[in-house]
Formats: sequence, structure tokens, C-alpha cells
Amino acid sequence: MFNILHLHEYVGNLHMHTPYSDGEASHAQIAQAALQAGLDFVLVTDHNILVQGVEGYYGSEDSGYVLLMTGEEIHDQGRLPQVNHLLVYGVEKELAQCAHDPQHLIDAVNAAGGLSFLAHPHDQVIEWRNEYAIPWVDWQVSRYTGLEIWNYMSSVKELMPTPISTIRTAFRPEEYMIGPNPKTLELWDSLLTKGWRVVGIGNADAHGTTYHLGPVSHVVYPYDFLFNCVNTHVLLPQPLTGNLEHDKFAIYRALRMGNAFISYDLLGDAHTFRYSATGTSSATIMGGTIKLGPGVTLQAKVPIRCHLKMIHQGKVVAEVQDRENITFTAHTGGAYRVEVWTEYKGKERMWILSNPIYIEDATYRVVG
Ligand SMILES: [Zn+2]
Ligand SMILES: [Zn+2]
Repeated sequence: MFNILHLHEYVGNLHMHTPYSDGEASHAQIAQAALQAGLDFVLVTDHNILVQGVEGYYGSEDSGYVLLMTGEEIHDQGRLPQVNHLLVYGVEKELAQCAHDPQHLIDAVNAAGGLSFLAHPHDQVIEWRNEYAIPWVDWQVSRYTGLEIWNYMSSVKELMPTPISTIRTAFRPEEYMIGPNPKTLELWDSLLTKGWRVVGIGNADAHGTTYHLGPVSHVVYPYDFLFNCVNTHVLLPQPLTGNLEHDKFAIYRALRMGNAFISYDLLGDAHTFRYSATGTSSATIMGGTIKLGPGVTLQAKVPIRCHLKMIHQGKVVAEVQDRENITFTAHTGGAYRVEVWTEYKGKERMWILSNPIYIEDATYRVVG
């Protein structure tokens, strides 16, 4: 049981690549970039290879420490075009051989006690560059842990429909980035409405790739830049200890439960964002489940005044402007999640996305 007032918050990134697949930076260089960006943990996910023997705390007393863990991004390499990238965490063995059937792969991850997230599910093509899309397409799958709601590099691709927009975005992505793909949010809401437990995470998908645009070549984008963009914060009942096995377990548990939120940290420091629910005899935090009874009060608070929205079944049920808190008394079961929007460079943009709180009643039961 959580003490909802005493949580330990850690921020990390859960999707990136090294030269073991198509990334540029080594594990040690990634750890360095993560330290510079102020992250507490990173999870390296090379394509179709689980790199073992590199996990642990990196850094020094001077620089501080970052926890580096390894997972994997798995897809069927024999299938063209490429689709169905699955992020796999918390499995200590290679599962890439299961990729021919996405449900078989998800089931294998579950059997091994791991977590699986559908990566960049609505990734789009950049036609003029002949850069193909890598969306999720086999939507009959079930029993996965969640969705990668916001993949920053996939969102960048959406901002590159023409050569001129590509150059603009390559140099100043923050000018054009508004939020995650609305189709992914719509999908998340429809799955939550069905009563599925679906955890949302947000990631960089950093590769350190150089883009060549005629005479212009530019690294789009360095790891340390991306680690200041879209991240996932986890909320733990106890602090991390410095022990690798203990700390991995605690982070994976929080991700499995959805005791986590997504933040676009370039817009501001999202630490201390909280979202909780209080019923007649119990309370919970984001990711948790609570019984409806005569009513449940939902409350979210942000570090600075913002535009907050409470969302239920894809509809905004409460909304406040220029406030640090939103409260809503729910009299209907279902999943309720919070979006925080804030103005940056003259435009309102998505800053924080909570995981839902599931309110169960006679008709709404959460599975998974
Ligand atoms: Zn991918
Ligand atoms: Zn990737």
C-alpha cells in the first residue's frame, strides 16, 4: 500500500540504441549523457539483441550516479516493410527468436516475468526522404504491459513532411513539437474504456544519427539533448538503494503498475507532479485501482500554474486554466487520466501526461 504523500520520484528514459544495433554512442557514453541531462536511470533497447554484462550504476561521487539497465526492442526482421517494434524490459534472456508472431512474443515476455510496450505505434512515413514508417499493425494482440504513448523521434518524423520543414525541425524541434500523436492517445483511451490496464510511457528513441540534407549535415539529435525532452518519471514507495537487483525490480514494478507519468522536460521541470484518488476508505496514485462507492475524489497538482484536463473515456470531464490543482469527484467507473498543457514559445504544448487511475464499479472492471 502506498503512502500517497511520501513517494520517491525518479526520472529516466526507456528507449535508446548503441552500436550493438543502429545507435552511435556506447553504453558508457549514454550513461555520461544521462548524467549531464540529470536522469536517474536509462534503459538501453538495442534492436533484437539483449546486451548483457553492462548493467549497473555509472558515474562518480562528483558527477553523481545513473542506473543503466538493458532491455531490447524486438521485431520480426524477416517481415518487410518493418512493423511491430516491441520494447521488452525485465527479461534476462534473449527473446528475439519469438518475433515471428507478436502475440507469441508478448506471451513469452509475460512467461519470463517481463514487461512489453508497443513502440511508436502510429509511426509515420517521410515520403520525400523515402523513410518508411514503422507502426504497430497487428492490433489483435493483447496482454502487453502498455503503449509508448510518446516517442520523441517518431514525433519529430511527423514534423518533416517537406524538405523545408525537415531543416527547420532538425535545428529547432522544440519550436514545432506540440505533443504525442493524437491517434495514440485515442487508442489508449479506447483500450482503457474496455477495461484494459494499459500503462503509458514516453521516450527518446535516441540513436545519435546524423541527417544529411544536401550541404547540411546535422546530428538529429544528440543523446543529451533527447534526455532533456520526453522522459518517464516513476514513483516508488521506497527510495532506490544503489543495489542493482533491488533497484531494477523497484523500477520495473512501478512501470508494470503504471505508477509513472510522462513529461516533456524541455518545457519545465515536472518533478513533484502528483495525481491521486481518495475514496471513503482507501486512496491510490496513478496506475492504481479504487472502488467507486459513493464517489471518489481525484486530484492532480503541478509545480507551476498550467492548463489541466481530466480525461475519461476520451472526453474532457474537468478542465482548469492557470491553476496548480485540479480536482474532480467521479460518480462513474472507468479510467481517468490527466493531461497538463503549458505555453512555450507562444504555443500551448503537452507537458505532462499521467497514467490513469482505474475506478471500479458494477460495470467497470480493470483486467491485466
Ligand atoms: Zn523502433
Ligand atoms: Zn528504437
